[in-house]
Amino acid sequence: MVVEADLHVHSHHSDGLHAPARLVAIAVHVGLRAIALTDHDTVNGIQEAKKAAPGELEVVAGVELSSAYRGREIHLLAYDIDPIDAALRGFLEPFRRERLGRARRIVARLNAIGVPVTMQEVERLASAGVTPPSIGRPHIARAIVDHGMATDVDEAFARFLDKDRPAFVPRSCIPVHDAIRLVRSRGGSLVVAHPALDLSMEQTEALASEGLDGLEVWHPAQNLEVRESLLGIAKRYGLVATGGSDYHGAGRRRDALAAAGVSLDVVRTLREGGRRKRH
Ligand code: AMP
Ligand code: ZN
Ligand code: FE
Ligand code: FE
Repeated sequence: MVVEADLHVHSHHSDGLHAPARLVAIAVHVGLRAIALTDHDTVNGIQEAKKAAPGELEVVAGVELSSAYRGREIHLLAYDIDPIDAALRGFLEPFRRERLGRARRIVARLNAIGVPVTMQEVERLASAGVTPPSIGRPHIARAIVDHGMATDVDEAFARFLDKDRPAFVPRSCIPVHDAIRLVRSRGGSLVVAHPALDLSMEQTEALASEGLDGLEVWHPAQNLEVRESLLGIAKRYGLVATGGSDYHGAGRRRDALAAAGVSLDVVRTLREGGRRKRH
């Protein structure tokens, strides 16, 4: 697959390190033709990215939704949404806001086990240049690294922040069917992000039949064998096979823009599918 379009990218509006305009510059530098900005629970970076993009680079408006499916957290990527749509923004806002309270609870847990990070540090890292930020565990991980309690972000997750670790605090997620209804009603498309990170192939297959538009097949955390299986499911259920790097900026291992992606025609196919369902 020639990587012309990277459809999974985070900016500093959520837990990425770079501003949207900087992501656009990197995308142009590496020769991409399209990127989708897919911040967690916020669409605040999209207009900046679109404004910064030169004619030869398309910016797809996206958002990564934490969603609940059969009792587990999965991630859905919504594409071709309208970043100034008040109904969409109103829907997302409580989820973004809840991240603040959850970060406080994580910090309290860390303090209780002797990790001296403060909310002030976390908020400073999360709001580097933007208000209001969508705070995530990666910000807390960076604060832990700053205190020398982990050598890098990955280690901070492995020691403290991963699901089975002492400072983990869950967060409320959007039920899959609500996400489908919302995105459908706004004319966008909905894709399961990195299915293999959260689901077995059987569960992915069950989810594929729920009325989604695509599956993220090409993702750095999904190897060749996993991609083949996902491609099979996408074919069986008539879903678009998408891909992206899940780039967050330096600071994590295996993190590079265009490390995974798709050809440009996938962007069109996805868009056409979303449009068809809207009418
Ligand atoms: P949150 O949305 O606050 O639950 O944080 C989830 C984000 O943290 C994911 O989207 C990834 O960007 C990142 N993440 C999750 N697990 C890990 C891990 N083990 N190592 C590094 N980053 C991770
Ligand atoms: Zn993230
Ligand atoms: Fe994700
Ligand atoms: Fe992501």
